[in-house]
Amino acid sequence: MRFGYHVKLAGSPVSAIESGVEAGCDTIQMFPGSPQQWGTPKASDEDARVFREARRESGIDPVIIHSIYLVNMASSADQVFKRSASSLASALTKADKLGSAAVVTHIGNHKGEGERFGLERIAAAVNSCLERSPGETMLLLETTAGAGTSIGGRFEQFGEVFDLSGGPDRLGICLDTCHIFAAGYDISTPGGVDAALKELDKYIGLDRLKLLHLNDSKAECGSHTDRHEHIGRGMIGMEAFRYMVNHEALKDLPAIVELAYGGSNPDDIGLLRSLVEG
Ligand SMILES: [Zn+2]
Ligand SMILES: [Zn+2]
Repeated sequence: MRFGYHVKLAGSPVSAIESGVEAGCDTIQMFPGSPQQWGTPKASDEDARVFREARRESGIDPVIIHSIYLVNMASSADQVFKRSASSLASALTKADKLGSAAVVTHIGNHKGEGERFGLERIAAAVNSCLERSPGETMLLLETTAGAGTSIGGRFEQFGEVFDLSGGPDRLGICLDTCHIFAAGYDISTPGGVDAALKELDKYIGLDRLKLLHLNDSKAECGSHTDRHEHIGRGMIGMEAFRYMVNHEALKDLPAIVELAYGGSNPDDIGLLRSLVEG
């Protein structure tokens, strides 16, 4: 398993590679620009050349881009819906230019319009942004804690999005351990991990799982509260992470830790590497 952090970006895209090297990452995740602003700064040809060269030298692979926080593909507000699809299309275009393997995104919140409405909107946004972006960069839908009217707390919902969108080849999913635990999948034991993966396989297919977000959880299973904790210090616990990093269905996936790193923070990726057997 290749491990990395969601790294800081300071100006040009290549700064993310520099942050990743400094933090000892095998893989990195970064934002396409400011996560609280709609516009995605374009990468120039020179930015792309410098980025690709630095990445090759560093050995960091893959590079993942995390969409901005404003994206809501399930929104009933036309402007938000259109901006969400455009924002994802720009992130996918930028990712393709930089040689990033995938864009991962939170899928959205129907805000009372109903789950069916939300799922149809998401499927439409997925197809729209994939049609408008070139290349092979994948779009990964991230599991959520399932709070309120947010979509993505149950694997069945992803299955529906795949059905409604026609299941494009470039569509996959990202499993966030903290989020699925909070959503009600008790992955704190080996049996619980196996049960969750069985469900995932039934509704989505394990072959669609392309990325892990490894975060422990401060909040209880089923709390629908998204609060990341350092590995082994939360309610999921060390033994569950040991089981997951060695699991046949997971061990070849890239894994991103979304927690503060460096300085006085625990060495989460070092710890995860130490759990890998053989
Ligand atoms: Zn995540
Ligand atoms: Zn989270």
